[in-house]
Amino acid sequence: MGKNRLFPLKIAFGLITIRPARFSYFFCETCLAYFVPMSPLPVLTGTSNSVLRSVSLPIKKVDKNIQKLIKTMEVTVKKAKGVGLAAPQIGENIRLILVQMNGKQFLPMVNPEISEFSLDNTYDEEGCLSIPGEFGNVWRAKEVMVSFLDEVGRPKKLRLNDFSARIVQHEIDHLNGILFVDRISEIVSHTEKETNEQYY
Ligand SMILES: [Zn+2]
Repeated sequence: MGKNRLFPLKIAFGLITIRPARFSYFFCETCLAYFVPMSPLPVLTGTSNSVLRSVSLPIKKVDKNIQKLIKTMEVTVKKAKGVGLAAPQIGENIRLILVQMNGKQFLPMVNPEISEFSLDNTYDEEGCLSIPGEFGNVWRAKEVMVSFLDEVGRPKKLRLNDFSARIVQHEIDHLNGILFVDRISEIVSHTEKETNEQYY
């Protein structure tokens, strides 16, 4: 009899204690509700992976599914501590990339296209989340003009230089099935390097 009386209390207590672990949810000030963020996905790896080696298709419409995918890519690239990510790296052969701007937030670009490359080139080291542990110097244009659609489908045009220009060129290569190792003559393995390399 005592057990029965305690039963509803136990349920109530259970509901309180099965809240998600700290930091696995966030509170939206606008919606006044708790949300569980999209989970990060594993990043595909390997220089002969067929998804990574395919040419990705243009996105016809920036709808809710694309917006959801952008969120998923964002949590994935943050968890992997990358500076950029292309949709094929999480198994989607569509033309969508994320590019870290000024070392901070990630800018999503739908159907990105480079319309201008500067004549100035820079030679610098790159790594790739899809080729962990390997690095190499790649020639890239120092400055590019990139056109794309933003996360709600508005057309945008941006001039990028130096590091962000390098990231966008690396990520657009992914959309064409090209990996940075295709553009270099020498690979340096991680064991010979310091641990501050950046993955794209
Ligand atoms: Zn990459």
